[in-house]
Amino acid sequence: MKTFTKVLLASVAVVWLAAKWTAPTFNAESLRGAKVLVTGASTGIGEQMAYHYATFGAQIVITARREKILQQVVEKCLSLGAQKALYIAADMSSDTDPERVVEFAVEQLGGLDYLVLNHIGSSPFSMWQGDVEHLEWLMKVNFLSYAQMAWKGFPALEQNKGALVVVSSLLGKMASPFVAPYISTKFALNGFFEGLRHELALKNSNVSISICTLGLIDTDSAMEKVKGVTNLPAYPASEAALKIIMTGATGERELFYPWYTYILTLSKDFFPSIRDYVVLRSYNYIP
Ligand code: NAP
Repeated sequence: MKTFTKVLLASVAVVWLAAKWTAPTFNAESLRGAKVLVTGASTGIGEQMAYHYATFGAQIVITARREKILQQVVEKCLSLGAQKALYIAADMSSDTDPERVVEFAVEQLGGLDYLVLNHIGSSPFSMWQGDVEHLEWLMKVNFLSYAQMAWKGFPALEQNKGALVVVSSLLGKMASPFVAPYISTKFALNGFFEGLRHELALKNSNVSISICTLGLIDTDSAMEKVKGVTNLPAYPASEAALKIIMTGATGERELFYPWYTYILTLSKDFFPSIRDYVVLRSYNYIP
């Protein structure tokens, strides 16, 4: 191994250890009775988050579009120990639903400690074919509704020294092929909420913003999309969900899960041509 590479890896390890050493510790008890709203909680990571919060004894409101599935998730949450579990069906591409959901949660829970923004609209895993209408719709679901909900939720979060948790992606830090519209929504999320975090600091706000950078997670929807196209390892949704919850509870700025998302985020601009080579080599595409 070249000296430069050794120094680079050692520096990354030192920074990582220092960050771990000084990070606040997670106290599961702090979530007992906590008032939580989780979006995109009918399936995938959001559903797993609902179950973890329930196990910690939180009071939760979950939302997505499919009412029947939400009902089942709520039942399971109650059986796992949630102090309260309610659902509200909503479509985040609507102009009014994002705010309606926050209003419902604040009213039903009597306040809000955690606003966990996690939902995503479905988008094809293919080369972009110029569908601007879909891009616009996806921006609304994956980005604008997050901004709307955050703004609506801030007063209640302020009252409870609460936390805003934004579920993003490695694809909000670096690009890859076949998902250009999705990538644009995640880059938008990262930029917007990092900017907002600075504004909250300037206002001495007591609300924390955690941005979660996830790699490939083994949810049904993600696995369906990448089947046969990539051989990247997928990490468990339940563990990803727990890490997100812990990050929100400790008010940490960022989560990188799994570990390689941190290394890639740190190093992606060092050697752009190597980065692009690695990105392209991780997909099986025959024109
Ligand atoms: P998922 O399984 O596809 O779940 C998406 C959720 O969003 C579902 O509950 C879905 O429920 C809801 N949803 C879809 N369209 C909606 C709409 N128009 N209005 C309201 N809700 C809507 O997703 P996931 O894989 O768990 O991903 C969760 C988060 O992790 C996302 O922010 C994603 O970007 C991030 N992430 C995932 C991966 C991965 O590999 N899985 C990697 C990086 C980042 P309904 O259909 O019932 O509405």
